[in-house]
Amino acid sequence: MTDPAADDSTDPAASIAAALAGRLDAALPQTQCTRCGYADCRAYAQAMADEGAAINRCPPGGEEGVQRLAALTGRSPLPLDPACGSEGPRRRAVIDEAGCIGCALCIKACPVDCIVGAPQRMHTVVEALCTGCELCLPACPVDCIEMLVATPGRSGWQAWSAAQAEAARERYQQRRARSAREQAEQAARLAAQARARAARHDA
Ligand code: SF4
Ligand code: SF4
Ligand code: SF4
Repeated sequence: MTDPAADDSTDPAASIAAALAGRLDAALPQTQCTRCGYADCRAYAQAMADEGAAINRCPPGGEEGVQRLAALTGRSPLPLDPACGSEGPRRRAVIDEAGCIGCALCIKACPVDCIVGAPQRMHTVVEALCTGCELCLPACPVDCIEMLVATPGRSGWQAWSAAQAEAARERYQQRRARSAREQAEQAARLAAQARARAARHDA
């Protein structure tokens, strides 16, 4: 079987693109909000490195973020693409506990696992961990989540530190790893059930 990593190591262009994607990813805010039009920050970084995706698609990073991406890519800075949203103070989600029906759909939607609550119980957002991505809003069937300004007068990298970005990245990666593990366990359970059914049928 071909090892893609091995292939990349023998292809200088691919190695350079991979290194650039890593640096670009490190320069992104890691809210995983998808406003850039990509599945997550890493995918956007990869697209900038591999496909020349525009460097002005990340509203959470703001104009300063565009400058950072311009410096890394050697391209000219551009105004933020309004199709992706606009720069503004970072916001945080707050759940109206009286309206919450405990459906847990917001937990499934949150990319950084910062909502806590048990099924059928009131849910709450851990304020310090919320990136303001807003992905929980459309998930809520009773519209009981609102966004409050968390950093009045500050936006982009003035409202979000490198340490916060790194913490968000780690939580997102942990969530992805857990999700992959759960899917593998579910597939193994289904395969075992299918084998058991086949064995009963044979018997
Ligand atoms: S923080 Fe920026 S790069 Fe990351 S998903 Fe949001 S818009 Fe895309
Ligand atoms: S609570 Fe909502 S806004 Fe905050 S990080 Fe989670 S999904 Fe995003
Ligand atoms: S999606 Fe809305 S109703 Fe459901 S648990 Fe979350 S906040 Fe409560």
